[in-house]
Amino acid sequence: PTFDSMSLKPALLRGIYAYGFEKPSAIQQRAIRPIIRGRDVIAQSQSGTGKTAVFSISALQLLDERSSEPQVLILSPIRELAEQTQRVVSSLGDFMNVKAIACIGGKSLGEDRKMLQQGVQILSGTPGRVYDLIKRGDLRTRSLKAFIIDEADEMLNKGFKEQIYDIYRYLPPQSQVVLVSATLPVEVLEMTRKFMNDPVRILV
Ligand code: AMP
Repeated sequence: PTFDSMSLKPALLRGIYAYGFEKPSAIQQRAIRPIIRGRDVIAQSQSGTGKTAVFSISALQLLDERSSEPQVLILSPIRELAEQTQRVVSSLGDFMNVKAIACIGGKSLGEDRKMLQQGVQILSGTPGRVYDLIKRGDLRTRSLKAFIIDEADEMLNKGFKEQIYDIYRYLPPQSQVVLVSATLPVEVLEMTRKFMNDPVRILV
């Protein structure tokens, strides 16, 4: 199994190799294909398995580069992780026409609003800030097609449950949902039942 055999956009493939990846990790071999085919996916995997690239590559493949509206929303439990994800998306998308930003608490709301006004396609953020931007009307959700929840177990440990449910209510009804979690406690499973439609479950 290679990245070449995944029917990815040529510019994305180029970005993957330029980033230094040669062959997909186990989780990448199993999860990218169903995600880019539009399936909801639960990926049970830890940090270090290449999970960030799973949803970053998938997000870039799902993206319509002609539209400058937000299309993929990625939630992370901590600010540094949200920023790191944004950097991975931007780097892998180096040869594409893509604008990805990180919106996190503790940074200027005005900056986020300005960037959003200029056009953002992939947004990586922490739940509080993302919900704030949605409520204020700064982040338009109408063109979102994929909602990615990274480290879902950590997200719930940090008390973000209500905010994630609040954000989910703003998504278009047919949005695709991808959830990554090291463990699948009851609260995470509840979320998958509520948010996801016939999910593919992958354990790595
Ligand atoms: P993550 O599980 O997303 O935290 O990724 C762990 C580390 O694996 C990161 O440093 C990635 O850059 C690296 N990585 C992810 N996918 C690949 C790959 N296909 N080939 C080589 N390194 C990778």
